[in-house]
Amino acid sequence: MKIGVLALQGAFIEHEKILRDLGVTPVEVRLPEHLADLDGLIIPGGESTTIGKLAVEFGLMEPLRRFAAERPTWGTCAGLIFLAKNIGIDRQPILGVMDITVNRNAFGRQVDSFATDLRIRMMGEVPFPAVFIRAPVITAVAPGVEVLAELPDGRIVAAQQGHLLATAFHPELTGDSRFHRYFVEMIKNEENLRTTG
Ligand code: GLN
Repeated sequence: MKIGVLALQGAFIEHEKILRDLGVTPVEVRLPEHLADLDGLIIPGGESTTIGKLAVEFGLMEPLRRFAAERPTWGTCAGLIFLAKNIGIDRQPILGVMDITVNRNAFGRQVDSFATDLRIRMMGEVPFPAVFIRAPVITAVAPGVEVLAELPDGRIVAAQQGHLLATAFHPELTGDSRFHRYFVEMIKNEENLRTTG
């Protein structure tokens, strides 16, 4: 299995490390040709405006859109913003492939970062340690988007729409590989669907 990690800016090395721990060799994606024959793609956290600017510069916007339209793609934090259809800002380049509305920097400036344990149904009984760094929240989801995790106040911080996965927090920073395992399973399921159907 080949999983790409968009390596323009942000926390891509941390994702690569967890993938290696799971026995998956990551592929760094910086140019359109790096997307060829990947089974899935992770768009890391960082700064979504910078990731967008660099993606435009490297001619990656359309190739990434095409990839994310059919292959498993997971955005964490800035990556979630990059996947979203609506971020309430017109001038920032985004892929606009996932039917979610997102509020950037939703936790304000003072409380930039925090960690909290989240109960996530498909991760089992053990709470997931979630690290939020100048994180966004999902303020609305269209029908067909499944909410995977909410904060105690109901704000949505993880969602899935078919082969698209989005987390407002950083599962690559805690050493808990359950989200990465989940993504690997998503890829296997997609592959089964493609080969049998
Ligand atoms: N605040 C950043 C943005 O708007 C996201 C922060 C992160 O990825 N940790 O892109």
